[in-house]
Amino acid sequence: MDITDPAELTEITATPMPAHRAEWEELLLADTELLGRIAGTIDGAFHVLFPARIVQNIKAFQDTFVRYGVTGRIYYGKKANKGASVVRACRTAGAGVDVASVGEFQAALGAGIAGTDLVVTGPAKSDALLALAVREGALIAIDGLDELDHLHAIVATITAAGHELTARILLRVLPPGSHSRFGLTGEELDLAVKRVDPNSISLEGFSFHLSGYRSIARAELAAALIPRCLEARGLGHRADTLSIGGGFGVDYVPEAAWRAFIDGVNPAWFHGDRAPAPDSYYPYHCPEPGPDMLAAILRHDDLGDRLRTAGITLAIEPGRALLDRAGSTVFTVQGRKTRTAHGRDYQILTVNGTSLSLSEQWFNTEYLPDPALWPRHTGDMTPACVGGATCLEDDMLSRRRIPLPRPAEIGDLLIYPNTAGYQMDSNESAFHDLPIPPKVELSASDGNAQFGWRFDR
Ligand SMILES: *Cc1c(COP(=O)(O)O)cnc(C)c1O
Repeated sequence: MDITDPAELTEITATPMPAHRAEWEELLLADTELLGRIAGTIDGAFHVLFPARIVQNIKAFQDTFVRYGVTGRIYYGKKANKGASVVRACRTAGAGVDVASVGEFQAALGAGIAGTDLVVTGPAKSDALLALAVREGALIAIDGLDELDHLHAIVATITAAGHELTARILLRVLPPGSHSRFGLTGEELDLAVKRVDPNSISLEGFSFHLSGYRSIARAELAAALIPRCLEARGLGHRADTLSIGGGFGVDYVPEAAWRAFIDGVNPAWFHGDRAPAPDSYYPYHCPEPGPDMLAAILRHDDLGDRLRTAGITLAIEPGRALLDRAGSTVFTVQGRKTRTAHGRDYQILTVNGTSLSLSEQWFNTEYLPDPALWPRHTGDMTPACVGGATCLEDDMLSRRRIPLPRPAEIGDLLIYPNTAGYQMDSNESAFHDLPIPPKVELSASDGNAQFGWRFDR
């Protein structure tokens, strides 16, 4: 970690936000050559992924299911990262994938995931996506009554062409009191359960996806759906699966750093004195991340025991949490200026990429885990903000002045940590005809600091 002594900070410098790092990333940063060699080869911004960490993250969820004696299924929420190596890691670890478009479906199949290990979510799915899901035996989360009717018609068409197929579905639940545009209301669920034709559609259960990171809300909604499963079984349906969606938290920075930031944040920390709204920050500290949150859900009111007794499989669809500490984004400093604010000097660095490779900046907020400056020697603490290589005034990767451990020089690298979940590729574009940063897949044998690398394609 880059530790800066808080006593060195000036009033124009944000408090440090040192990211938790996995061992692979510590080794990569400590390697005095590899990052520089890759950067020299690519000649542009790039992302690194370490798929072995994803396998480890999946195993931690699997172990939690085992510990609580609950039959679990893990589907990676694919929108969090498009990398092929992510899906390959899912295959290695025995996880399925949650897809929402024909493109994602194809990418998952192409990376070796069986169709029966896919769940298809999203509203009003296209004919092409529904038909592909039926033919490949994927589980389909039905989002509306019209979609259910539509699916019956699609199965009828496929069956008329001489293929005996049953579609597998979950009914997606609109959480009571929620303003979500997704899911079916209680009344619609009652109708849907009666309307499912068991000859062509297998109703395997119910699903939901909540925003926010509250374990209790998830546990309580899952518990409330157990009687719905039992009722549906009474009508002859299989109804043995509940999917509680994604939204498992990630712990990016230690609690003390997060508190110091939130308590101290003020406009003078930011270029142009322009701070994001105080309530706009993503919660970068999470006391019960990933598998711990799953454990809390299973413990709440003995949900685990109740699922086991009812013979129900609990499916989860984590996106971000499976990518925790599995990737980072590397930029080269190609320009630096000194500017003054409130009587203090700071650097404006320009890097060889854009803030489109750090999606948080596009939600009127800021990605807070601090980038590491590489090579790693230290000197005088220097506040720096970071801009992209575009002509947009607002294209800044970090508006806040980060306490760098020394002045940055042209050719140095800035490595933004923990970007695999949503940061690295959800908003990327070839704006300005700049190349889209490639993904580099790193591998290393256990305890070995010698990495191999190849493009993630
Ligand atoms: C986005 C999404 C997920 C993944 O969410 P994370 O917060 O990344 O875990 C899972 N399920 C559904 C239906 C989603 O839309």
